[in-house]
Amino acid sequence: MENLKEQEAKYFMSTGKRQPLTLVRGEGVKVWDDEGREYLDFVAGIAVTGLGHCHPAIVKAIEEQSRILWHVSNLYYTVPQVELAQLLVENSCMDEVYFQNSGTEANEAAIKLARKYGKVHLNGAYEVISAIDSFHGRTFAMVAATGQPAHQAIYTPLPQGFVNVPYNDIEALMSATSENTCAIMLEVIQGEGGVNVPSQDYLKQVRDWCDERGMLLIFDEVQTGIGRTGTLFAYQHFGVEPDVMTLAKALGGGIPIGAIMAKKAASAFEPGDHGSTFSGNPLATAVALANMRYILDNDVVGNARRSGEHLKGKLEGLVAKYDLATEVRGMGLLLALGLSEDVAGKIVDECRGRGLLVNPVRPNAVRTMPALIVTKAEVDKAVGILDSALEAVGKDSK
Ligand SMILES: *Cc1c(COP(=O)(O)O)cnc(C)c1O
Repeated sequence: MENLKEQEAKYFMSTGKRQPLTLVRGEGVKVWDDEGREYLDFVAGIAVTGLGHCHPAIVKAIEEQSRILWHVSNLYYTVPQVELAQLLVENSCMDEVYFQNSGTEANEAAIKLARKYGKVHLNGAYEVISAIDSFHGRTFAMVAATGQPAHQAIYTPLPQGFVNVPYNDIEALMSATSENTCAIMLEVIQGEGGVNVPSQDYLKQVRDWCDERGMLLIFDEVQTGIGRTGTLFAYQHFGVEPDVMTLAKALGGGIPIGAIMAKKAASAFEPGDHGSTFSGNPLATAVALANMRYILDNDVVGNARRSGEHLKGKLEGLVAKYDLATEVRGMGLLLALGLSEDVAGKIVDECRGRGLLVNPVRPNAVRTMPALIVTKAEVDKAVGILDSALEAVGKDSK
Protein backbone atom coordinates (compact mmCIF):
# COMPACT_ATOMS: atom_id res chain seq x y z
CA MET A 1 0.00 0.00 0.00
CA GLU A 2 2.66 2.54 -1.08
CA ASN A 3 -0.26 4.65 -2.20
CA LEU A 4 -1.39 5.16 1.40
CA LYS A 5 1.84 6.94 2.34
CA GLU A 6 1.42 9.30 -0.63
CA GLN A 7 -2.21 9.98 0.27
CA GLU A 8 -1.18 10.62 3.85
CA ALA A 9 1.48 13.08 2.76
CA LYS A 10 -1.10 14.89 0.66
CA TYR A 11 -4.10 14.97 3.00
CA PHE A 12 -2.90 14.53 6.55
CA MET A 13 -1.61 17.41 8.65
CA SER A 14 1.89 16.33 9.55
CA THR A 15 2.64 17.03 13.22
CA GLY A 16 4.96 14.14 14.02
CA LYS A 17 7.18 11.45 12.53
CA ARG A 18 5.85 7.95 11.90
CA GLN A 19 7.59 4.62 11.59
CA PRO A 20 7.39 3.42 7.95
CA LEU A 21 4.78 0.83 8.81
CA THR A 22 1.04 0.48 8.15
CA LEU A 23 -0.68 -1.63 10.78
CA VAL A 24 -3.94 -3.27 9.83
CA ARG A 25 -4.73 -5.84 12.53
CA GLY A 26 -3.87 -6.79 16.10
CA GLU A 27 -4.46 -9.65 18.52
CA GLY A 28 -3.01 -9.89 22.01
CA VAL A 29 0.65 -8.80 21.90
CA LYS A 30 0.86 -9.19 18.09
CA VAL A 31 0.10 -6.81 15.22
CA TRP A 32 0.20 -7.33 11.44
CA ASP A 33 1.13 -4.89 8.68
CA ASP A 34 -0.52 -4.43 5.28
CA GLU A 35 1.79 -7.04 3.74
CA GLY A 36 0.85 -9.67 6.29
CA ARG A 37 4.07 -9.43 8.32
CA GLU A 38 3.74 -10.17 12.03
CA TYR A 39 5.27 -8.08 14.83
CA LEU A 40 5.55 -8.45 18.58
CA ASP A 41 4.15 -5.16 19.84
CA PHE A 42 6.23 -3.87 22.76
CA VAL A 43 4.84 -0.33 22.34
CA ALA A 44 1.14 -1.15 22.97
CA GLY A 45 -0.15 2.12 21.56
CA ILE A 46 2.19 4.03 23.96
CA ALA A 47 1.35 2.05 27.10
CA VAL A 48 -2.38 2.04 26.30
CA THR A 49 -3.59 -1.43 25.29
CA GLY A 50 -3.03 -3.13 28.65
CA LEU A 51 -5.03 -6.22 27.71
CA GLY A 52 -3.43 -6.35 24.29
CA HIS A 53 -5.18 -5.82 20.98
CA CYS A 54 -8.84 -6.77 20.50
CA HIS A 55 -9.19 -8.52 23.86
CA PRO A 56 -12.51 -10.44 24.00
CA ALA A 57 -13.59 -8.69 27.23
CA ILE A 58 -13.21 -5.30 25.54
CA VAL A 59 -14.78 -6.40 22.26
CA LYS A 60 -17.77 -7.69 24.25
CA ALA A 61 -18.15 -4.41 26.18
CA ILE A 62 -18.02 -2.34 22.97
CA GLU A 63 -20.57 -4.60 21.26
CA GLU A 64 -22.97 -4.73 24.20
CA GLN A 65 -22.85 -1.06 25.17
CA SER A 66 -23.14 0.04 21.53
CA ARG A 67 -26.58 -1.59 21.45
CA ILE A 68 -27.70 0.12 24.67
CA LEU A 69 -26.54 3.76 24.86
CA TRP A 70 -23.48 5.67 23.62
CA HIS A 71 -23.79 9.26 24.55
CA VAL A 72 -26.17 11.54 26.42
CA SER A 73 -23.70 14.03 28.03
CA ASN A 74 -23.14 14.79 31.69
CA LEU A 75 -26.53 16.49 31.98
CA TYR A 76 -27.87 13.08 33.06
CA TYR A 77 -26.88 10.20 35.29
CA THR A 78 -25.53 7.14 33.46
CA VAL A 79 -24.87 3.73 35.02
CA PRO A 80 -21.40 2.69 33.68
CA GLN A 81 -19.95 6.10 34.60
CA VAL A 82 -20.94 5.80 38.25
CA GLU A 83 -19.89 2.13 38.43
CA LEU A 84 -16.45 2.98 37.00
CA ALA A 85 -16.09 5.88 39.44
CA GLN A 86 -16.86 3.56 42.36
CA LEU A 87 -14.40 0.90 41.15
CA LEU A 88 -11.58 3.44 40.77
CA VAL A 89 -12.21 4.99 44.18
CA GLU A 90 -12.43 1.61 45.92
CA ASN A 91 -9.11 0.53 44.42
CA SER A 92 -7.10 3.71 45.03
CA CYS A 93 -6.36 6.17 47.84
CA MET A 94 -8.72 8.70 46.24
CA ASP A 95 -12.27 9.71 47.14
CA GLU A 96 -13.76 11.12 43.94
CA VAL A 97 -13.32 11.04 40.18
CA TYR A 98 -14.29 13.09 37.12
CA PHE A 99 -13.77 11.66 33.65
CA GLN A 100 -12.03 13.35 30.72
CA ASN A 101 -11.18 12.29 27.17
CA SER A 102 -7.37 12.20 27.38
CA GLY A 103 -4.35 12.54 29.63
CA THR A 104 -3.71 16.15 28.82
CA GLU A 105 -7.34 17.02 29.58
CA ALA A 106 -7.15 15.22 32.90
CA ASN A 107 -4.07 17.29 33.73
CA GLU A 108 -5.80 20.51 32.66
CA ALA A 109 -8.59 19.64 35.08
CA ALA A 110 -6.02 19.01 37.82
CA ILE A 111 -4.49 22.46 37.26
CA LYS A 112 -7.91 24.11 37.29
CA LEU A 113 -8.70 22.32 40.54
CA ALA A 114 -5.37 23.43 42.04
CA ARG A 115 -6.02 27.04 41.00
CA LYS A 116 -9.46 26.98 42.62
CA TYR A 117 -7.96 25.37 45.72
CA GLY A 118 -5.36 28.15 45.81
CA LYS A 119 -8.05 30.81 45.56
CA VAL A 120 -10.12 29.27 48.34
CA HIS A 121 -7.45 27.99 50.74
CA LEU A 122 -4.08 29.60 49.91
CA ASN A 123 -4.73 33.31 49.55
CA GLY A 124 -4.96 33.16 45.77
CA ALA A 125 -1.78 31.15 45.20
CA TYR A 126 -1.83 30.00 41.56
CA GLU A 127 1.59 28.73 40.55
CA VAL A 128 2.27 25.06 39.82
CA ILE A 129 5.77 23.62 39.99
CA SER A 130 6.53 20.77 37.60
CA ALA A 131 9.72 19.01 36.53
CA ILE A 132 12.21 19.39 33.72
CA ASP A 133 11.99 16.41 31.31
CA SER A 134 8.40 15.83 32.41
CA PHE A 135 5.56 15.19 30.01
CA HIS A 136 2.04 16.31 30.85
CA GLY A 137 0.44 16.65 27.42
CA ARG A 138 0.01 18.94 24.43
CA THR A 139 -2.67 21.49 25.26
CA PHE A 140 -1.48 25.03 25.71
CA ALA A 141 -1.22 24.99 29.48
CA MET A 142 0.30 21.50 29.50
CA VAL A 143 3.05 22.69 27.12
CA ALA A 144 3.94 25.16 29.88
CA ALA A 145 3.77 22.44 32.53
CA THR A 146 5.86 20.05 30.42
CA GLY A 147 9.47 20.92 31.20
CA GLN A 148 10.87 20.34 27.71
CA PRO A 149 12.13 23.57 26.11
CA ALA A 150 12.03 21.94 22.65
CA HIS A 151 8.25 21.61 22.94
CA GLN A 152 7.84 25.14 24.32
CA ALA A 153 9.95 27.42 22.12
CA ILE A 154 7.59 27.81 19.13
CA TYR A 155 4.57 28.59 21.33
CA THR A 156 5.82 31.42 23.49
CA PRO A 157 4.50 33.39 25.25
CA LEU A 158 3.20 30.42 27.24
CA PRO A 159 0.36 30.50 29.77
CA GLN A 160 1.51 31.94 33.10
CA GLY A 161 1.84 30.16 36.40
CA PHE A 162 4.20 27.26 35.70
CA VAL A 163 7.70 26.80 37.04
CA ASN A 164 9.92 23.92 35.83
CA VAL A 165 12.61 22.57 38.17
CA PRO A 166 15.02 19.59 37.92
CA TYR A 167 13.36 16.25 38.75
CA ASN A 168 14.48 14.27 41.78
CA ASP A 169 15.98 17.42 43.36
CA ILE A 170 14.13 18.42 46.52
CA GLU A 171 16.33 21.50 47.08
CA ALA A 172 15.47 22.93 43.66
CA LEU A 173 11.80 22.34 44.32
CA MET A 174 11.94 23.99 47.73
CA SER A 175 13.75 27.06 46.51
CA ALA A 176 11.29 27.48 43.61
CA THR A 177 8.37 27.46 46.06
CA SER A 178 6.87 30.82 47.00
CA GLU A 179 3.68 32.19 48.55
CA ASN A 180 2.29 31.95 44.98
CA THR A 181 2.70 28.17 44.78
CA CYS A 182 -0.55 26.19 45.04
CA ALA A 183 0.58 22.76 43.83
CA ILE A 184 3.39 20.50 42.73
CA MET A 185 2.76 18.24 39.75
CA LEU A 186 5.02 15.25 39.07
CA GLU A 187 5.08 11.97 37.25
CA VAL A 188 5.88 9.17 39.70
CA ILE A 189 8.25 7.82 37.04
CA GLN A 190 8.97 10.11 34.10
CA GLY A 191 7.81 8.27 30.99
CA GLU A 192 8.43 10.37 27.87
CA GLY A 193 11.46 11.95 29.57
CA GLY A 194 13.28 8.62 29.20
CA VAL A 195 11.84 6.39 31.98
CA ASN A 196 13.44 8.16 34.95
CA VAL A 197 12.82 6.65 38.38
CA PRO A 198 13.22 9.02 41.34
CA SER A 199 15.18 8.07 44.45
CA GLN A 200 13.09 6.34 47.12
CA ASP A 201 12.96 9.38 49.48
CA TYR A 202 12.33 12.12 46.88
CA LEU A 203 8.57 11.69 46.66
CA LYS A 204 8.30 11.41 50.47
CA GLN A 205 10.21 14.67 50.82
CA VAL A 206 7.92 16.31 48.28
CA ARG A 207 4.89 15.02 50.20
CA ASP A 208 6.25 16.47 53.47
CA TRP A 209 7.01 19.79 51.77
CA CYS A 210 3.47 20.01 50.39
CA ASP A 211 2.02 19.21 53.83
CA GLU A 212 4.20 21.86 55.48
CA ARG A 213 3.08 24.53 53.00
CA GLY A 214 -0.53 23.39 52.55
CA MET A 215 0.06 22.85 48.82
CA LEU A 216 -1.54 20.11 46.73
CA LEU A 217 0.54 17.22 45.45
CA ILE A 218 -0.61 16.11 42.00
CA PHE A 219 0.68 12.83 40.58
CA ASP A 220 0.35 12.48 36.82
CA GLU A 221 -0.15 8.71 36.54
CA VAL A 222 -1.36 8.93 32.95
CA GLN A 223 1.44 6.59 31.85
CA THR A 224 2.30 4.78 35.10
CA GLY A 225 -1.27 4.06 36.25
CA ILE A 226 -3.40 0.92 35.76
CA GLY A 227 -0.74 -1.70 36.39
CA ARG A 228 2.00 -0.46 34.10
CA THR A 229 4.73 -0.47 36.78
CA GLY A 230 3.66 -3.73 38.45
CA THR A 231 1.32 -2.14 41.00
CA LEU A 232 -2.11 -0.76 40.12
CA PHE A 233 -0.75 2.77 40.66
CA ALA A 234 2.94 3.72 40.77
CA TYR A 235 2.59 5.77 43.97
CA GLN A 236 2.15 2.43 45.79
CA HIS A 237 5.85 1.64 45.21
CA PHE A 238 6.89 4.74 47.13
CA GLY A 239 4.47 4.75 50.06
CA VAL A 240 3.37 8.28 49.18
CA GLU A 241 -0.23 9.32 48.49
CA PRO A 242 -0.96 12.36 46.33
CA ASP A 243 -3.93 14.72 46.85
CA VAL A 244 -4.82 14.59 43.17
CA MET A 245 -4.07 11.94 40.57
CA THR A 246 -4.62 11.86 36.83
CA LEU A 247 -5.11 8.77 34.66
CA ALA A 248 -5.65 8.07 30.99
CA LYS A 249 -3.54 5.87 28.72
CA ALA A 250 -4.39 2.32 29.89
CA LEU A 251 -7.65 3.23 31.65
CA GLY A 252 -9.86 2.40 28.65
CA GLY A 253 -7.68 -0.29 27.11
CA GLY A 254 -7.51 1.77 23.90
CA ILE A 255 -10.80 3.67 23.98
CA PRO A 256 -10.03 7.36 24.68
CA ILE A 257 -10.77 8.17 28.32
CA GLY A 258 -8.97 10.08 31.06
CA ALA A 259 -9.72 10.77 34.70
CA ILE A 260 -8.91 13.22 37.45
CA MET A 261 -9.16 11.78 40.95
CA ALA A 262 -8.93 13.71 44.21
CA LYS A 263 -9.08 13.26 47.94
CA LYS A 264 -12.08 14.86 49.60
CA ALA A 265 -10.01 17.61 51.25
CA ALA A 266 -8.54 18.63 47.87
CA SER A 267 -11.77 18.39 45.93
CA ALA A 268 -12.44 22.08 45.33
CA PHE A 269 -14.83 21.90 42.36
CA GLU A 270 -18.49 22.82 42.73
CA PRO A 271 -21.29 22.47 40.16
CA GLY A 272 -20.58 24.83 37.26
CA ASP A 273 -16.80 24.95 37.74
CA HIS A 274 -15.84 22.39 35.12
CA GLY A 275 -17.33 20.14 32.46
CA SER A 276 -17.03 18.38 29.11
CA THR A 277 -19.44 17.22 26.42
CA PHE A 278 -17.97 13.81 25.63
CA SER A 279 -16.28 12.95 28.88
CA GLY A 280 -17.29 9.79 30.70
CA ASN A 281 -19.90 8.84 28.14
CA PRO A 282 -21.58 5.44 28.52
CA LEU A 283 -19.55 3.78 25.76
CA ALA A 284 -16.14 4.92 27.04
CA THR A 285 -16.94 4.19 30.66
CA ALA A 286 -18.51 0.78 29.95
CA VAL A 287 -15.34 -0.22 28.07
CA ALA A 288 -13.07 1.15 30.81
CA LEU A 289 -15.19 -0.66 33.40
CA ALA A 290 -14.85 -3.98 31.55
CA ASN A 291 -11.11 -3.34 31.17
CA MET A 292 -10.65 -2.53 34.87
CA ARG A 293 -12.77 -5.47 36.05
CA TYR A 294 -10.82 -7.89 33.88
CA ILE A 295 -7.51 -6.49 35.14
CA LEU A 296 -8.59 -6.71 38.80
CA ASP A 297 -10.33 -10.12 38.58
CA ASN A 298 -7.48 -11.84 36.74
CA ASP A 299 -4.44 -10.45 38.60
CA VAL A 300 -3.21 -8.81 35.39
CA VAL A 301 -1.14 -6.45 37.55
CA GLY A 302 0.62 -9.46 39.09
CA ASN A 303 1.41 -10.71 35.60
CA ALA A 304 2.80 -7.28 34.70
CA ARG A 305 5.02 -7.41 37.78
CA ARG A 306 6.30 -10.94 37.07
CA SER A 307 6.77 -10.44 33.32
CA GLY A 308 8.33 -7.05 34.08
CA GLU A 309 10.89 -8.57 36.45
CA HIS A 310 11.65 -11.21 33.85
CA LEU A 311 12.07 -8.56 31.14
CA LYS A 312 14.27 -6.42 33.39
CA GLY A 313 16.53 -9.39 34.12
CA LYS A 314 16.84 -10.20 30.42
CA LEU A 315 17.60 -6.56 29.53
CA GLU A 316 20.27 -6.50 32.24
CA GLY A 317 21.74 -9.51 30.46
CA LEU A 318 22.08 -7.32 27.35
CA VAL A 319 23.82 -4.64 29.41
CA ALA A 320 26.33 -7.27 30.53
CA LYS A 321 26.82 -8.46 26.94
CA TYR A 322 27.11 -5.22 24.95
CA ASP A 323 29.16 -2.06 25.55
CA LEU A 324 26.45 -0.19 23.67
CA ALA A 325 23.85 -1.03 26.37
CA THR A 326 24.61 0.85 29.58
CA GLU A 327 21.68 0.45 31.99
CA VAL A 328 18.06 -0.59 32.48
CA ARG A 329 15.67 2.00 33.95
CA GLY A 330 12.08 1.65 35.10
CA MET A 331 9.68 -0.61 36.96
CA GLY A 332 7.23 -3.32 35.97
CA LEU A 333 6.63 -3.22 32.25
CA LEU A 334 7.74 0.39 31.80
CA LEU A 335 11.43 -0.11 31.05
CA ALA A 336 14.13 1.64 29.06
CA LEU A 337 17.47 0.33 27.87
CA GLY A 338 20.03 3.13 28.10
CA LEU A 339 22.66 3.33 25.31
CA SER A 340 26.18 4.74 25.18
CA GLU A 341 25.49 6.35 21.78
CA ASP A 342 22.53 8.08 20.09
CA VAL A 343 21.51 4.99 18.12
CA ALA A 344 18.05 4.27 19.55
CA GLY A 345 16.47 5.01 16.15
CA LYS A 346 18.75 2.48 14.43
CA ILE A 347 17.99 -0.17 17.02
CA VAL A 348 14.27 0.41 16.63
CA ASP A 349 14.67 0.00 12.83
CA GLU A 350 16.67 -3.22 13.24
CA CYS A 351 14.05 -4.58 15.65
CA ARG A 352 11.20 -3.71 13.31
CA GLY A 353 12.96 -5.51 10.45
CA ARG A 354 13.11 -8.58 12.69
CA GLY A 355 9.47 -8.41 13.83
CA LEU A 356 9.55 -6.40 17.06
CA LEU A 357 8.13 -2.94 17.77
CA VAL A 358 9.93 -0.89 20.45
CA ASN A 359 10.16 2.87 21.00
CA PRO A 360 13.14 5.28 20.81
CA VAL A 361 12.04 7.32 23.85
CA ARG A 362 15.31 9.30 23.77
CA PRO A 363 18.08 9.34 21.16
CA ASN A 364 20.05 7.13 23.57
CA ALA A 365 17.28 5.00 25.10
CA VAL A 366 14.90 2.33 23.80
CA ARG A 367 11.62 1.97 25.71
CA THR A 368 9.64 -1.26 26.06
CA MET A 369 6.02 -1.15 27.29
CA PRO A 370 4.21 -4.29 26.12
CA ALA A 371 0.64 -5.19 27.06
CA LEU A 372 0.27 -6.13 30.73
CA ILE A 373 -0.76 -9.66 29.68
CA VAL A 374 2.59 -10.33 27.97
CA THR A 375 4.01 -13.80 28.75
CA LYS A 376 7.58 -14.71 29.67
CA ALA A 377 7.87 -16.61 26.36
CA GLU A 378 6.91 -13.44 24.44
CA VAL A 379 9.43 -11.47 26.52
CA ASP A 380 12.15 -14.01 25.66
CA LYS A 381 11.35 -13.76 21.97
CA ALA A 382 11.44 -9.94 22.07
CA VAL A 383 14.74 -9.84 23.94
CA GLY A 384 16.21 -12.31 21.44
CA ILE A 385 15.36 -9.83 18.68
CA LEU A 386 16.76 -6.89 20.66
CA ASP A 387 19.92 -8.91 21.19
CA SER A 388 20.50 -9.40 17.46
CA ALA A 389 19.57 -5.74 16.79
CA LEU A 390 22.20 -4.59 19.30
CA GLU A 391 24.73 -6.87 17.70
CA ALA A 392 23.94 -5.51 14.22
CA VAL A 393 24.06 -1.85 15.29
CA GLY A 394 27.17 -2.38 17.42
CA LYS A 395 29.05 -3.81 14.43
CA ASP A 396 27.73 -1.08 12.18
CA SER A 397 29.06 1.75 14.33
CA LYS A 398 32.60 0.27 14.62
C1 LIG B 1 0.80 10.53 27.45
C2 LIG B 1 0.91 11.36 28.65
C3 LIG B 1 0.12 12.51 28.82
C4 LIG B 1 -0.79 13.03 27.74
O1 LIG B 1 -1.85 12.18 27.48
P1 LIG B 1 -2.71 12.37 26.13
O2 LIG B 1 -3.79 11.34 26.27
O3 LIG B 1 -1.77 12.14 24.99
O4 LIG B 1 -3.24 13.74 26.14
C5 LIG B 1 0.20 13.18 30.02
N1 LIG B 1 1.01 12.77 31.01
C6 LIG B 1 1.79 11.67 30.87
C7 LIG B 1 2.66 11.25 32.02
C8 LIG B 1 1.79 10.94 29.69
O5 LIG B 1 2.59 9.88 29.55
